[in-house]
Amino acid sequence: MGQAEVTELGLAMAERGEASGLGAGGEAPAPVELGFVERAPPARLVSSQFPSKVGGRPAWLSLCVPGPERVRCGGCARPLVFLLQVYAPRGRAFHRALLLFCCALPACPSRRFAVYRSQLGRINDFYPAEPQPEAEAPLRPGPGPRLCRVCGAAGPKSCSRCRRAHYCGKEHQSADWRAGHRAACGRPGEAADRTSSPNILFPEYELVMELEEEQIVGSEDTEDQKLEDLKMCMESLSTASSDCETQPLDEKELEAMAKHETKEDQIFNKFKRTTALAPEQVLRYCRGGSPLWVSGENIPTDTDIPNCSCGAKRVFEFQVMPQLLYQLKVDRLGESLDWGTLVVYTCEQSCDHGNEYSPEFLWKQDFSAD
Ligand SMILES: [Zn+2]
Ligand SMILES: [Zn+2]
Ligand SMILES: [Zn+2]
Ligand SMILES: [Zn+2]
Repeated sequence: MGQAEVTELGLAMAERGEASGLGAGGEAPAPVELGFVERAPPARLVSSQFPSKVGGRPAWLSLCVPGPERVRCGGCARPLVFLLQVYAPRGRAFHRALLLFCCALPACPSRRFAVYRSQLGRINDFYPAEPQPEAEAPLRPGPGPRLCRVCGAAGPKSCSRCRRAHYCGKEHQSADWRAGHRAACGRPGEAADRTSSPNILFPEYELVMELEEEQIVGSEDTEDQKLEDLKMCMESLSTASSDCETQPLDEKELEAMAKHETKEDQIFNKFKRTTALAPEQVLRYCRGGSPLWVSGENIPTDTDIPNCSCGAKRVFEFQVMPQLLYQLKVDRLGESLDWGTLVVYTCEQSCDHGNEYSPEFLWKQDFSAD
């Protein structure tokens, strides 16, 4: 028996190694990293510092930023709001970032999301090959890309009076006009690079990543739970046996009760147990791993996840947790923005698109109605 167990374990490990190698472009799935929000000086959250961050304006990696039409909601056609970005270099992609945008318009019939991947080699058009100290040395001489002073997306439109204020479109131009540009337009003190903050953006934080601690693996809890159930069973049995003839029936009933945990309960309980050990986590990162579902409903199958434009499969990379909604003070924005989890799948090959941003895939799962 002992010998057989050892052999089976060895085989299982070999199979797992091989399967994961095939599953994620030759890389074994890494342990889960958890993301937490922290206040940080704005200088740390700019493009040249390659941040992972939440809220505020995007810290574009490639400075060939996507046109504003690519950062619009497919439902209401209004500009999407920057939600977060994860800096996750890998292999040949010396720099690599995933940026996530969402529609925050309360009245939108179908709140859409957009995810873009940008990656650059060590030698690239925008950044030095060696890391630069914080808040030193601008990215490169000359002006950066024209960005909307409200949302930080590409800003091809300019104020027709001063021609110094740039916008992604008329929505943010009028928001800025009301928020103060009406009075400041054309004044010498009104710098072209001033940013405007009508109440449109999410509060800004750094996203700090930490390894998830090993002991919180869900299966151990399950084993403990089974033992507890067994003990409970045995205790009831010993009291029952002294004064009752229907012992076998009681035993069966108890077993049935102990096992009465529906698939839905199991998934949600695993979610609760896993997140309870680090309740402030707003993101889980594990490229090639598996997401932690909040519900048994609406889990995508392989065919629900479209391949990348290069033809390669997409694999799980990270998920946004519902805890982020609290951090974003969504209530302050008077909105019903909501999710159970947002699961991001990316090209298994991390295919190269030069300075372009390539779209990736997001799956939204809500909590079960029960
Ligand atoms: Zn919308
Ligand atoms: Zn804008
Ligand atoms: Zn103006
Ligand atoms: Zn691809």
